[in-house]
Amino acid sequence: MKEPTLPNSTIGVFGSGQLGRMFAIEARKLGYRVHTYSPDSDTPTGQVADIETQGSYDDLYEVRVFAQSVDVVTFEFENVPSAAVDAAAEFVDVFPSGNILHITQNRLREKTFLASNGFPVTPFRHITTLDELTAGVAELGTPCVLKTAGFGYDGKGQSKIRSIDDIAPAFDLLGGHDAVLEAFVDFEKEVSVVCARDQRGNFAHYGVIENEHANHILDVSFAPAVVDAATFNEAIEIARSIADTLDYVGTLCVEFFLTRDGQLLVNELAPRPHNSGHLTFDACVTSQFEQQLRAVCGLPLGLTEFYRPAAMANLLGDVWQDGEPNWASALMDPAVKLHLYGKGEPRRGRKMGHITAVSRDAASAVRSVRGAREALKSAG
Ligand code: AMP
Repeated sequence: MKEPTLPNSTIGVFGSGQLGRMFAIEARKLGYRVHTYSPDSDTPTGQVADIETQGSYDDLYEVRVFAQSVDVVTFEFENVPSAAVDAAAEFVDVFPSGNILHITQNRLREKTFLASNGFPVTPFRHITTLDELTAGVAELGTPCVLKTAGFGYDGKGQSKIRSIDDIAPAFDLLGGHDAVLEAFVDFEKEVSVVCARDQRGNFAHYGVIENEHANHILDVSFAPAVVDAATFNEAIEIARSIADTLDYVGTLCVEFFLTRDGQLLVNELAPRPHNSGHLTFDACVTSQFEQQLRAVCGLPLGLTEFYRPAAMANLLGDVWQDGEPNWASALMDPAVKLHLYGKGEPRRGRKMGHITAVSRDAASAVRSVRGAREALKSAG
């Protein structure tokens, strides 16, 4: 067992979005220094980090300089090219490992990993040609979903195939990229397990969180999810087993579909803190971001207990469409907490912040966050 990376050490973070920002806030709370590396400047992470380096992930010289200036590296953005992670790993530990990043940044590799290790996934096919797509649609039936294998998130690079007429246009949209064709899941709900595994293999989880999407983007999450005990236990065991199989170190999110007949299917893995775990920041003894920090630093994990049931609603750029939102009105409910990510341009669909609330039960916490988000649109 290695010596832990102690407070006052510097944590390197690849990526500079809101996940890195909340990670940096937690790291600074514990007295660590944070150095973020990404192609951008004045970023959500950079605004709260000690040092912000603007550099390309392909500039391996700069990546090596960065790695030599920090004590351990983690990431908040999983599409960092493997070469950059390998270059950093020449100098310092990177958690989660480059191998895990390699698996999870490509849907085909991820689904193949899951299926070959016996984890439940919806039937899928690897697609490289129009003929393969035509055959795949015949095998899996309609509707089905075609997704680019690499670099997709929040429904980007996805199309639903409802009939054979959709096959050729969907294939064209791939623009020559590899894809995965998935059978459509007629799910009852979507849930996730946010969990963490430390360097000794200890595991901690936040129970099951329930997620509602709008336009393929997470809209509202709440915890605890409304699921029966058997589903709860199975979701946790699947997450634990995935983390163990990957010899995972850090915070991991396993996203599931819960089918109408009660079956859990893994949709995807996020090798980092996840949007559905943002509510742990306000509602739990130890947030998902602090768990990530503790795990990558070789410290014991913290208690995941919820103070109270909680909910989170995302704030997309759309909230700004009629001008500055009415923040004061949203905060009229004293249970509501506002998180803004320091992003300049409120583009439609861009994640700008979120609202969380705790309450006596999850349903009333959901009412609070939805109500507060509505109040943002009211006249000041
Ligand atoms: P993903 O980027 O794969 O997480 O997909 C984003 C969202 O699209 C999911 O959270 C689901 O709401 C929906 N979706 C993706 N794949 C499927 C599928 N095979 N069947 C039904 N809905 C899906």
